Amino acid sequence: MTDTHQLLHDIFGFSSFRGVQEDVVERTLAGENTLAVMPTGAGKSLCYQLPAVALEGAAIVISPLIALMQDQVRSARANGIRAASLTSMSDDWRQVQDDLMSGKLDLLYVAPERATTDGFGRLLEQARISLFAIDEAHCVSEWGHDFRPDYRLLRPLLDHFGAPRLALTATADRRTRADILQQLGIGEDGLIVAGFDRSNIRYHVVPREGLPSQLKRLAKAHEGPGIVYCPSRAQTERVAEQLRGIGRPSAAYHAGLEKEIRQGNQEAFVRSEYMVMAATVAFGMGIDKPDVRFIAHAGVPKSIEAYYQETGRAGRDGEPAEAWLFWGADDFARARRRIETEVEPERRAGERERLNALGAFVEAATCRRAILLRHFGEDPPETCGNCDNCLNPPETIDVTVAAQKILSA
Ligand code: ADP
Ligand code: MG
Repeated sequence: MTDTHQLLHDIFGFSSFRGVQEDVVERTLAGENTLAVMPTGAGKSLCYQLPAVALEGAAIVISPLIALMQDQVRSARANGIRAASLTSMSDDWRQVQDDLMSGKLDLLYVAPERATTDGFGRLLEQARISLFAIDEAHCVSEWGHDFRPDYRLLRPLLDHFGAPRLALTATADRRTRADILQQLGIGEDGLIVAGFDRSNIRYHVVPREGLPSQLKRLAKAHEGPGIVYCPSRAQTERVAEQLRGIGRPSAAYHAGLEKEIRQGNQEAFVRSEYMVMAATVAFGMGIDKPDVRFIAHAGVPKSIEAYYQETGRAGRDGEPAEAWLFWGADDFARARRRIETEVEPERRAGERERLNALGAFVEAATCRRAILLRHFGEDPPETCGNCDNCLNPPETIDVTVAAQKILSA
């Protein structure tokens, strides 16, 4: 039996596991089922890629997005792992299928829609399977923030082949976790949760009062790279222009920009030590920039999960970083209208609950970090000393006013 530390070094060039990685890898190698809840950037891919190499046969990885699969295949191959995907974008289906059947693949990425077809089941019958990795496993749950019905249809495939299952997600509250365990047939003792605390990020939540000057002050106070998340495409362009107006390099990023412009802006940001990106939430996934010094939200995000994920892009290098949320009562009113008019009726209760959790976070007079961490199932200390409420305990009267603003919106 090969030593996992040796493999870690030989395949990935790392000298030690991070946090719970080793636990998750060992469980999977031992044939046990696991749900690993680990924050973005914690290194979830390695948790299934290492066993995929160590074990005989191919690991089947369920992944929700073609773009994610392509990134993963590329980076796995860069480490010498034999990886492929079967998607509408793959032009080498025949080859991939042959490789799978003749044992020449370590990793095969597929979308849940394909994994649950009869054809795919028949293909797997002719292959040796080492494990099933279910990435972005919160998609299994209606309580998750990104429900994908086809994730719910995976169970028969998993049961039929009986290889160890490893579900991974960065964002799942208690209820979502319980749902994932049940839906994927993983025992409760298979739950492994990594620490969610990002202690170097200082959280601030403030009412939006003259956003342009608030953002300019923020940009002046922080020289390093920053991201301003805006609710609309038009606003990203306005904010970038306002910041350039005070001499700060800044660009916009949203899905409506031409691909070359968007990519050019992204590359400039990744290289820059000063730039501020004004972006919609389309920006950030898969971007590995460790020195982002601040994240600002020009309006409330979709959920606490989204807030945690978006602010989590600050300070990956471990150096001090800041998160600023600028909110208005109308944000909540708009979000509530959206739920009632655009969300399917059976999902409304969950969305309302998530919005209320965000409202409670915004209006809180107590430690922000504690609220975030409790939301993710941790049991944190009452105060962190590194958020607005811990540094400047608010007076009760302000809280009541804030709460009324939200409730009456
Ligand atoms: P996640 O999917 O949890 O967001 P990734 O799997 O994309 O995270 O990993 C994030 C980064 O951390 C990658 O650049 C990866 O190479 C790096 N990484 C993962 N594990 C380790 C480790 N044990 N030591 C050092 N770097 C690691
Ligand atoms: Mg990942």
